[in-house]
Amino acid sequence: MQIQINESQIELVRGDITQQETDAIVNAANESLLGGGGVDGAIHRAAGPELLAECRTLGGCATGDAKITRGYRLKARHVIHTVGPIYRDGKHNEPQLLASAYRRSLELARENNLASIAFPAISTGIYGYPRTEAAHIALRTIVEFLKTHAAPKLVRMVLFDAETLNVHERVLQEFAGRAEQESNSAPET
Ligand code: ADP
Repeated sequence: MQIQINESQIELVRGDITQQETDAIVNAANESLLGGGGVDGAIHRAAGPELLAECRTLGGCATGDAKITRGYRLKARHVIHTVGPIYRDGKHNEPQLLASAYRRSLELARENNLASIAFPAISTGIYGYPRTEAAHIALRTIVEFLKTHAAPKLVRMVLFDAETLNVHERVLQEFAGRAEQESNSAPET
């Protein structure tokens, strides 16, 4: 599924983040940036040991922030490492921190003149964020960013399994419907 926001595309696909050929892929990292399980482990395995060596020089990353490195043996030239929140009960700033992880990653892509970026569903694995809530926050943040910035031109979310893709498609359809209603009700000039 794909929708257009101004000059940019948001695309949802099922797949493996490590195989993406976008200018950057986003890593669902932890604050140490020294590797972990899930997406983080898969990206480090695919990129090779030079990635960990560069990550060691970065001094970690706060939750909600992001840092950029090269992509080494990946097809993507860059990795943007972001740290989503560990989900507790939704009352510990988790929504704001998750939105911030997406926003900071998009800002870094733009600052580095990257045209395309691929995200996994940050925080929805080991960090336990409920999938539907996380999809709302992710897609709302991406849509808002692209309404106010001309780059990146392509934002792809790469979902690992069919059910997670499904959830994201439903949420994006809601947003797309709403955007259409807004443009239909805009006064003619
Ligand atoms: P977090 O610690 O932020 O929760 P995880 O890496 O545990 O991050 O999981 C984030 C999401 O990425 C989960 O929905 C998981 O199913 C999915 N995932 C795991 N491996 C991959 C992969 N290779 N490509 C894309 N998504 C993946």
